[in-house]
Amino acid sequence: MKSLFLILFFISNLFAVDIKIKNSTIENGRTIFIEFKKEKGVKYKNIEFLKHSYPIYENPVDKSKLYALVPVSYYTKPDIKELKVVYDVAKKTNTAFFMIEIKDAHYKKESIKVSAKKVNPTSKKVQKRISKEYANAMKIYNTFSKHNYITSKFIIPLNTKITSEFGKARVYNGTLKGYHSGVDFRAKKPTPIKCANDGKVVLAKDRFYAGNSVIIDHGHGVYSCYYHLSKFKVKKGNIVKKGQIIGLSGSTGRITGPHLHFAIRVEGTQVDPLEFIKTINKNIFNGDDR
Ligand SMILES: [Zn+2]
Repeated sequence: MKSLFLILFFISNLFAVDIKIKNSTIENGRTIFIEFKKEKGVKYKNIEFLKHSYPIYENPVDKSKLYALVPVSYYTKPDIKELKVVYDVAKKTNTAFFMIEIKDAHYKKESIKVSAKKVNPTSKKVQKRISKEYANAMKIYNTFSKHNYITSKFIIPLNTKITSEFGKARVYNGTLKGYHSGVDFRAKKPTPIKCANDGKVVLAKDRFYAGNSVIIDHGHGVYSCYYHLSKFKVKKGNIVKKGQIIGLSGSTGRITGPHLHFAIRVEGTQVDPLEFIKTINKNIFNGDDR
């Protein structure tokens, strides 16, 4: 299937461009990685996929290459979709087309019982707080910082058993309320939480659903999130290093027991954080174990 898509690839002029889609067959909730070799006279501009535009960035370790991350939303249905690369040659705009096969990741379902007060917050004050927190978070996630902080592989923030995977459909008190947007790590006692990579703290505050939350901007539209903390060890605006302790795990926010909820946003979209880490580590930092 993969080779067929490569044959289907065509460009609108004879100028040689070197573009590789590293995973042209992809499940919903995962991230497409595209690699470009810099060519003299070619200016790569952006990617267009499912009515969204995505930027193209410098590869952080190999200056002869560029790369782009294209998140496939959890809600994308299995299909074959066109991905367009827009680039200029001698100030003339060209496009290269690729076919992406989207497969169903077959995420599981999970039933959760929580206090009715937290499922349907009735007070106007609480509703106002939730909308404000949501708007603030979306403003952060939709800022694609051109600056890049990362120079080495991502790590996971905690080395314990995973108690809930990404993508599980969540049924709260019998009603479907979306899906699990991150991965939950067991953390019964307050446990030091490591930052997954270098970056800048863009949020460190208590929120209604997520409790004490830390969001780190890694640059190039990538954010990592750490929720339900009992204690903060960083403040908004801090520059953090990979492995630095950003807080202690806890059970703040809408939660049934203490754990760490870890999530990743790529260019505004929630993706499977562990699959994202695998994809970026393999395609940017392979063989580099710093
Ligand atoms: Zn969670």
